[in-house]
Amino acid sequence: MKALCWHGRNDIRCDTVPDPQIEDSRDVIIKVTSCAICGSDLHLMDGLMPTMESGDVLGHEFMGEVVEVGQGFTKFKKGDRIVVPFNINCGECRQCKLGNWSVCQRSNRNAEMAAAMFGYTTAGLFGYSHLTGGYAGGQAEYVRVPMADVAPMKVPDGMDDESALFLTDILPTGWQGAEHCEIQGGETIAIWGAGPVGFFAIQSAKLMGAERIIAIDTVPERLELARKAGATDIIDFEKEDVFERIKEISRGEGADAVIDCVGMEATAGHGIAGVVSAIQEKLTATERPYVLTEAIKAVRPCGIVSIPGVYGGPLPINMGSVVQKGLTLKSGQTHVKRYLETLTELIQQGKLDVTSLITHRSTNLADGPDLYKTFRDKKDGCVKVVFHPN
Ligand code: NAD
Ligand code: ZN
Repeated sequence: MKALCWHGRNDIRCDTVPDPQIEDSRDVIIKVTSCAICGSDLHLMDGLMPTMESGDVLGHEFMGEVVEVGQGFTKFKKGDRIVVPFNINCGECRQCKLGNWSVCQRSNRNAEMAAAMFGYTTAGLFGYSHLTGGYAGGQAEYVRVPMADVAPMKVPDGMDDESALFLTDILPTGWQGAEHCEIQGGETIAIWGAGPVGFFAIQSAKLMGAERIIAIDTVPERLELARKAGATDIIDFEKEDVFERIKEISRGEGADAVIDCVGMEATAGHGIAGVVSAIQEKLTATERPYVLTEAIKAVRPCGIVSIPGVYGGPLPINMGSVVQKGLTLKSGQTHVKRYLETLTELIQQGKLDVTSLITHRSTNLADGPDLYKTFRDKKDGCVKVVFHPN
């Protein structure tokens, strides 16, 4: 079959690889009908996530039709259309029972590697390095879905692929990012990054009752989407002083909660920091915590800093500001399964716009290497790339 494979920094290829096989009675194999490139995949492309190996199949946002099931498997049958959350869940460990799906204790085949890095293991993820289990991803024609009896969900009748696809990751990620802000109604929420995750965080904050939603980015079409999603205020970080603008909008008090929907590959705005960040981007693969630093500064005392943006290792942040202002930091890979039912209903009720971010579609995975670059460089108005490989 064809699949998009990682071969090193900035080296993604469309390879022919062996078809996946059933390995366990809890497995299913799906024929992928839709899959997408995520901002998280850019961290792999740009060489910021350790433990990738040449030939690894990428992709953690995918859905498709069940074509094979393990022996005695009953949750799905051949022909069912399913969405597959990016985290793999055993359903039996203490964390799964608590609903902390992204830190499942048993699905990561390289649990020791993850524990050495983070203290304890986190869940197995599709197509996301050997640190998260080394599972083949879904930017492919077929995928083996292990522990398929737990996280994956049958697509409701009548729901098309593009309405369901983002349930696998970015929609629940934006939702969790907003939920972490504990919105009661009337708050000012500042959101860095108007990419796909920011787009859904804005919609979620609005549905939860935020009054002012400040979107920060610099890419015009992304800021336009942010406005469409419900942002009441827009800040272009290349042109304006983000901290000062947030202060002004929040009547001098600071945002009640802030959401970092950018993560480790932030670019610094203007001034000397901007120059340094541009050099860092070109020459080295280092994490750049510009947004997190700014978010910690811009939130009001006793506010909440929600961090869906992905980071990989130790970073210099202003702990003084966290402690002295009494901030609460909330983060994590998304517990996708926790939100599937609620979000499916909201989609069916027409309360979420799940399609206007899709700017690029392809039926040919061979377009993958080019589309990865288009997405990373935000060329051609690209916000989200979706493949329909079968
Ligand atoms: P993306 O790369 O498309 O979007 C990032 C946006 O941030 C871009 O529009 C960029 O212009 C903007 N940006 C860069 N520097 C900025 C700055 N200084 N201020 C404001 N905006 C800035 O990515 P995405 O798909 O939207 O994902 C965003 C982040 O969320 C990534 O780190 C990704 O890994 C992470 N993510 C996390 C989870 C999770 O489970 N926690 C799931 C999916 C994605
Ligand atoms: Zn993703």
